[in-house]
Amino acid sequence: MKRFNIVPRPNFIKNLGGYSACRSIKKELVSDTALGDEGYRLTVEKNSVLLEANTEQGFFYGEKTFEQLSFCGKIPCAVIEDKPRFTYRGFMVDSARHMQTVDELKKLIDAAALLKFNTLHWHLSDDQGFRIESEKFPFLNEKGSWRKGDDFGARHTDIPYGGYYTKAEIRDIVSYCAERFIEVIPEIDIPGHTTAIIHSYPHLSCKKEEIAVKTKQGIFDDILCAGDSRTLDFLFELLEEVVELFPGERFHIGGDEAPKKRWEECELCKSKQLALGLESPEQLQGWLTAEITKFLEAKGKKGSVWNESLAAGNLPEGILVQRWMDPKNKSTIWANRANYIINSDFYHYYCDYPYHMTPLKKTYNYSPIPKGVAPIMEKYVLGIECPMWTEYVYTFDWFCYMAFPRFAAVAERAWTIEARCDHSSFCERFEALMPLLRSMGINPAPSYEWNPTPGRRLAGTLGFFKDKIDFKTITNSLNSQKN
Ligand SMILES: [Zn+2]
Repeated sequence: MKRFNIVPRPNFIKNLGGYSACRSIKKELVSDTALGDEGYRLTVEKNSVLLEANTEQGFFYGEKTFEQLSFCGKIPCAVIEDKPRFTYRGFMVDSARHMQTVDELKKLIDAAALLKFNTLHWHLSDDQGFRIESEKFPFLNEKGSWRKGDDFGARHTDIPYGGYYTKAEIRDIVSYCAERFIEVIPEIDIPGHTTAIIHSYPHLSCKKEEIAVKTKQGIFDDILCAGDSRTLDFLFELLEEVVELFPGERFHIGGDEAPKKRWEECELCKSKQLALGLESPEQLQGWLTAEITKFLEAKGKKGSVWNESLAAGNLPEGILVQRWMDPKNKSTIWANRANYIINSDFYHYYCDYPYHMTPLKKTYNYSPIPKGVAPIMEKYVLGIECPMWTEYVYTFDWFCYMAFPRFAAVAERAWTIEARCDHSSFCERFEALMPLLRSMGINPAPSYEWNPTPGRRLAGTLGFFKDKIDFKTITNSLNSQKN
């Protein structure tokens, strides 16, 4: 056991030797530029614990460090001076494919706060379900929140699946996060991944035909019709209703995986493209994104999108781009042009693939700054995020198994400077943190999954999940996305 088992690893620790008998913290608000908005200085001595910070958020992180330090009983004397490397430290929860209960979300949020995350990206609308209560558009809940069953990989059920978060539940989650200095960024994916919306209101698609809410994962041709003026009217009305629930600065409007097949065939979309003098359906998506972004800005929000939105080439400056799979490196060009990006690289930070496909070491050792970002533009990499997609992750235990320790690894890379990051040190410290997480209702994967000894690597994942997971489908989907 190490003397200082803290995740994320603090950036400076001076070991004073010995142990403290003091359990209560004395807080002192200071004005110390070295600590920044989120930093703190924790001085643990034999008979006193002093916590200094410029802000309440700094105090909060100092307390989280003390919580980890004191969990094992003996509190080592030390001076810890600490502040984050990145301002955006996010984890993403997909509640569209499978939902989590409010209590489960709160457990995740507590664990995330312990790891000093400050952003919850909450994916609430997709082909498999719409998860926000709407009074203006009741069919989104009556119809769009439900699907006939599950057909994800090897798992098939004919049991109707669905539900949505009421406005009261969403407000509860948002304020629970705010108390822990976590901003909630909701995502309504537009214009693709909108089967649930189209099922509720078929006139919003190009074909104007009803389609069923999807029971399997994938990329689907039916997307919102950009040429029909009723689409933007609907989106403005819906966003007007939804932004009220989320007081944070940002709103994610998706923009990923939107095939243009329907737009190429749709008379309304074709004439809209012509009328706007646009060269391609991709630019039509750029125009749609710009219109929505303008609307959000009028509401005091900033837009976020997935990196595919850059394909249009006419994305409004200033929009936050989330990089996940970007073979043409448009997001690095975006950053080099002084626009902010965050990095949630598919091969390293996606948490829904088994550990033998995305080993923890690969996640941990990945540099948060994407290759190609010029050194003087690195400040435009606002931070990093670990997404948890839930097509296959349909129980909370499984969520925790896949997310921990990965969330902790990404949290450390988001907080700790490069020179202090060390994979084997992380594994030791995370192992020591596991009892604390378990006491919070979070059961991480056992260490043989993520810190494997040679020859045992596959045994854990396959043994635990072989009845639940279809590796062939996952491998195929992983390979198809690589191409
Ligand atoms: Zn259309």
